[in-house]
Amino acid sequence: MPSIDTARFEELLDLFRVDAGERFDLADHDPGWEGDEELPKKDRKDLAEELLEDGIEALAESQELLWASDRWSVLVVLQAMDAAGKDSTIKHVLSGVNPQGCRVVSFKQPSAEELDHDFLWRCAVALPRRGEIGIFNRSYYEEVLVVRVHPAFLAAQRLPGFEGTGDPGAAFWADRYESINAFERHLVRNGTLVVKFFLNVSWEEQRERFLERLDRPEKHWKFNAADVAVRRRWQDYRHAYQQAIAATSTAWAPWYVVPADHKWVTRAVVAQVLVRRIRELGLAFPTIPEDDRAALAESRRELLAEQGPG
Ligand code: ATP
Ligand code: MG
Repeated sequence: MPSIDTARFEELLDLFRVDAGERFDLADHDPGWEGDEELPKKDRKDLAEELLEDGIEALAESQELLWASDRWSVLVVLQAMDAAGKDSTIKHVLSGVNPQGCRVVSFKQPSAEELDHDFLWRCAVALPRRGEIGIFNRSYYEEVLVVRVHPAFLAAQRLPGFEGTGDPGAAFWADRYESINAFERHLVRNGTLVVKFFLNVSWEEQRERFLERLDRPEKHWKFNAADVAVRRRWQDYRHAYQQAIAATSTAWAPWYVVPADHKWVTRAVVAQVLVRRIRELGLAFPTIPEDDRAALAESRRELLAEQGPG
């Protein structure tokens, strides 16, 4: 069985984190990354699968700890182009987690009610409670991604001082990044850990996955003709992601750019990053006060002494 030393693994995970203030270029991140180059190729997938298994188990334990300690919640933000594997990552990485302590929310085009509020509102009301893990499948980041590529969406938001359907300009987007950074900082200060992943699939691999969906009748339901229209704007989306990730990778909520051409890589990285980030919170199971311990001992005595019902 292949193995990897922890220090080396931490080093690898660091490669995916975008640190505040560092020069960020999406082009430096290879979507097709296939694991540690220092390992023989044949071992890399086995190791990733082992890391996923280990991550799933550790995440289940972390979640119990989150719940029991009742101090922090975890918000996982997942952003990606279509077919990058958001859904299957959620399915696999959270497969060991108690559904009671975990909530997945998907964000589509905003409804009329949502458009009657500011752009963060619908996400704010969907945030995880203390003790919970919340997953945002898309998020308020759509407001600086799809909306940036299609500024015509802004008309429906009826913003003050904003007319027309064209691009409102760099200062407008900078204000949105600032709102997002302030929102996330507020969340972290108040006990919500924010962990953001961009699943980085390549143009070539997206095409393969779309074609597979089209070639296999049992996968047709996954295909949406609109996905091809979005794909035509690939470069515009890359540009929007580049800008957004650079502007919103902060000390309190950095982005992780995760290679997504190989699903086994994506899942192992997401699982392990999450486990490590939750571990850094240093949570502990609550200890029981002296008086309560005495009451537990009394209950125990009573149960042991029982003769029968009634
Ligand atoms: P899947 O295709 O796997 O079901 P998905 O997340 O792609 O998942 P869709 O229903 O296909 O879900 O797409 C949701 C669409 O809603 C995306 O194209 C996304 O860009 C769009 N969307 C999300 N938030 C906003 C927003 N604030 N303004 C406009 N469009 C948005
Ligand atoms: Mg879709």
